[in-house]
Amino acid sequence: MSRNDQPVTRIVIAGGGIGGVTAARQFDRLLRGRQDVEVLLVNRDNFFVLSPLLFEACSGVLELRHCAAPIRPCLRHVRFMEGTIQRIDVDRRIVQVVGPGGTELSLDYDHVVIALGASTNTRAIPGSEHASTFKTVADALLLRNHLIELLERADVETDDARRRELLTIVVIGGGLVGVELLGEITAFIQSELRYYPRLRLREVRFHLFEVGPRLLPESAPFLADYARRVLTERGAELHTATPVTGIEPGLVRWREGSVRADTIVLAPGIVPNAVASRTPVQRDKRGRIVTDAALRSVSHSSVWAIGDCAAIPSPDGAQYPALAQHAVREARAVARNVVAELSGRRPVPFFYNSLGSMAALGRTRAAVDLRGFHLSGFIAWWIRRTYYLFQMPRWERRLRIALDWTVSLICRPDLTKIDPASERDLQDRAAGALPDSLRVPRPIPETRDHVIHRVVTASPNALAENDG
Ligand SMILES: Cc1cc2nc3c(=O)[nH]c(=O)nc-3n(C[C@H](O)[C@H](O)[C@H](O)COP(=O)(O)OP(=O)(O)OC[C@H]3O[C@@H](n4cnc5c(N)ncnc54)[C@H](O)[C@@H]3O)c2cc1C
Repeated sequence: MSRNDQPVTRIVIAGGGIGGVTAARQFDRLLRGRQDVEVLLVNRDNFFVLSPLLFEACSGVLELRHCAAPIRPCLRHVRFMEGTIQRIDVDRRIVQVVGPGGTELSLDYDHVVIALGASTNTRAIPGSEHASTFKTVADALLLRNHLIELLERADVETDDARRRELLTIVVIGGGLVGVELLGEITAFIQSELRYYPRLRLREVRFHLFEVGPRLLPESAPFLADYARRVLTERGAELHTATPVTGIEPGLVRWREGSVRADTIVLAPGIVPNAVASRTPVQRDKRGRIVTDAALRSVSHSSVWAIGDCAAIPSPDGAQYPALAQHAVREARAVARNVVAELSGRRPVPFFYNSLGSMAALGRTRAAVDLRGFHLSGFIAWWIRRTYYLFQMPRWERRLRIALDWTVSLICRPDLTKIDPASERDLQDRAAGALPDSLRVPRPIPETRDHVIHRVVTASPNALAENDG
């Protein structure tokens, strides 16, 4: 490939989550003004999600879109393409993508940075397909709608057993995602129940299942103790050392018992992204791409990997954890190392000493462990928020988030349930609920060849007018 007959080096970043976007922005800074290198970022969506903000997007503390940011405005010289990566051919150095509208594209590269992240582990528990996941913006929207819907349904339900099922919420997994999610849900339900005078807080049951002996196994015991205290105060039943043995529609089973619940959310850990774990480079037992300390695949010199899909050695012989704070640092380091390689310099080993960990539990409750320095309550909650606010690129997005947070200090979370149905869908739904005698066919839309008849609702008066 050439530009004005100059050879051009092509870098493809596969995956535009927090790792991929941070790498792209770092390339933007490092390659400013260079005509001999082209960088292309490919992501399934035209936005990226800052996952630690998903919980508040679900409860409505944060406007749903504000936990995400459109990718294009974040980039200057790096190009962006929306597309689903199907395969990375590391021998021919080609990334195969299905672009918008189904166009199949083959993108050749000199270096590829794989930042495809991970997915919820749905293989660990039989029947996981009957539970919701909590990973994407759509997951947050669906769970939010579901929670509000169950409050509405419980409000009119007269059968006690059914009402109990509607008001039972189960989260499977006591790691950071499960604990923070349950924290946000308990705070949300407690706050919104005041609008449902027929429902009592003691009727709502929250269950959390964790296979290990304590909550938050990846964090300091201080965080786990704090989370346990807050969740217990809010009435949650915390089942530690309790592996869930199976999920059925509306039912969770463990060795000693079972619980019926209309809400079952799965957070039992992650598996590497399917495309990354199919890429024919050296991978570990879990399917993560094994890199050296400089973030380069140990088997293919043109392949680099970061974030949740990579197994990156840390100096203590372990691997860096799958966390956003690590993905961000790895992303900056990989961009520096690829540029060093292009400039004939040696890539530098990646080293990051974690700042600590944080867990938010909704409604101004959080705990922070900053390298052994412990804080909890409002100040910890404020530190976590401020930290993630600055992980979001661009001041415009930060301003919107800060405004949402400010408003949420004085107002309760919004109860609006967004039904993604068009007016026509709503009419069809209403018609479906009517007896046949009250349905009239309405021609929509008219095409050159035929008229499609759709059944629509009609009031008896309208029918009378029609008959006339
Ligand atoms: C709900 C939740 C809360 C979290 N909270 C925290 C927290 O508080 N603190 C913390 O440190 N970490 C947290 N994490 C973990 C953190 O989000 C991840 O460690 C981090 O996002 C990893 O970054 P990544 O770039 O490797 O992957 P991701 O951010 O997951 O990005 C992967 C990207 O690849 C894209 N992609 C995947 N497959 C394809 C394909 N075939 N084609 C094209 N694009 C594709 C995805 O759409 C996505 O944009 C949380 C995770 C979740 C799910």
